[in-house]
Amino acid sequence: MKGRITLSLIKPYAVKNGYAGQILAIINEAGFRISAMKYIQLSTNQAKKFYAIHNGQNYFDKLVNFITEGPVVVLLLEKEDAVASYRKLIGATDPHKAEDGTLRKLFGASIELNAVHGSDSDENAIRESNFFFSETERF
Ligand code: GDP
Repeated sequence: MKGRITLSLIKPYAVKNGYAGQILAIINEAGFRISAMKYIQLSTNQAKKFYAIHNGQNYFDKLVNFITEGPVVVLLLEKEDAVASYRKLIGATDPHKAEDGTLRKLFGASIELNAVHGSDSDENAIRESNFFFSETERF
């Protein structure tokens, strides 16, 4: 059965440019329930853990730098088939290849500055949710 949760980050580039409000509105309109949310700045250590799977890639250091350069909005989102539904809403990793109307097309600048993160599997959605939110922080 497909999971009902996914984890999103509004990345520092998008927060800094004032896109967070519009992104939240689009997420709401797409039918996601926000069951937890926080506004935090990740430490280098947290970022390395969150992106551990990318360790060793030539873009890893840049990725860690971009995600720690300012605050992020962390969102735990709920909807039927949440992972696939949210991946559709955000679009391709590279904003230039993302479909019109997707969050990354609307608000991303490049593959590095691509506005938002979305979990890529139910397993990662659970891992990433537990990384950011305790049980008592979810509603
Ligand atoms: P996502 O699940 O669509 O976010 O894509 P990935 O899990 O493959 O990558 C995670 C993040 O790493 C992306 O959102 C990008 O910010 C960054 N990234 C992925 N691939 C590349 C790449 O080839 N070059 C650069 N510079 N960044 C990348």
